[in-house]
Amino acid sequence: MNYSVATSLFMRYDLPTAIERIADAGFVEVELWTRAPHLDATDPHYDVGPALRTLVERGVKATSCHAPFGPHMNLGSPDPSVRAAGIDSLRSLLEPCAKLGVETIVVHPNVAPQGQTDEQAEATKPLIRDSMVKAGDVARPFGLRLAFENMLSAGRSQPCGAMAQLHELVDGLADNVGLCFDTGHAFANGLDLASEVRDSGDRLIALHVHNNDGEVDRHWPPGRGKIAWTPFLEALRETRFEGAWTLESMARGDEDPIVNLEKTKAAISAWGPPAGADSP
Ligand SMILES: [Zn+2]
Repeated sequence: MNYSVATSLFMRYDLPTAIERIADAGFVEVELWTRAPHLDATDPHYDVGPALRTLVERGVKATSCHAPFGPHMNLGSPDPSVRAAGIDSLRSLLEPCAKLGVETIVVHPNVAPQGQTDEQAEATKPLIRDSMVKAGDVARPFGLRLAFENMLSAGRSQPCGAMAQLHELVDGLADNVGLCFDTGHAFANGLDLASEVRDSGDRLIALHVHNNDGEVDRHWPPGRGKIAWTPFLEALRETRFEGAWTLESMARGDEDPIVNLEKTKAAISAWGPPAGADSP
């Protein structure tokens, strides 16, 4: 188990350079952002060669990627053509991801519209679950797993805002379908992080670590913000989660991503290496 860094921290760099900067900081795993200027799967001529060479040269593993998201590809949309666009978008990632050695694709399970009611949220559940089944089916021949991530609620009724809700949605689905727990989303939703980890149960296959002020999804480094990390870390170490602990802070405005990453390193140095209950 290792810490991993999301390349979305380095949006002003191309993908090989982003990987270089992360390797320079001492990390050996990355999560790939799957839009320009990184892995642009919308480009049918996208060449994975330069990124693959950098990964090999620097001894870095692209453990996961983050799938694109948005209302036009919402896997929980009442419109079947929008859900199909979401599956098509995932399909376009499979070949480049497999070539780069990616194991897990992190996916937003839905896009909940502002003002969504409980009744509307409930009605999207079977649609989301159907999309999860289809996504698992298209990814399976490529040996890829899908990790569906907890979403921001921001005052709306949201069928994917808590890990217990997501666990219910993936319950009984194929074993290449699992969950990604995002600490910043859970905290901005006002949830207890340790309980959320426990609610993820044996379906937890990916992790996004970042911090905020408890109000807005700011994607700050772990050391900046209001999350009390100790109970979360204790709960996480009690699980059998064996995946990378992926740091998903972002550099916004004129923030320097390299300074951001140094701050992240300083915060996690107190945490010790990632390890779970079954670690040697
Ligand atoms: Zn995330």
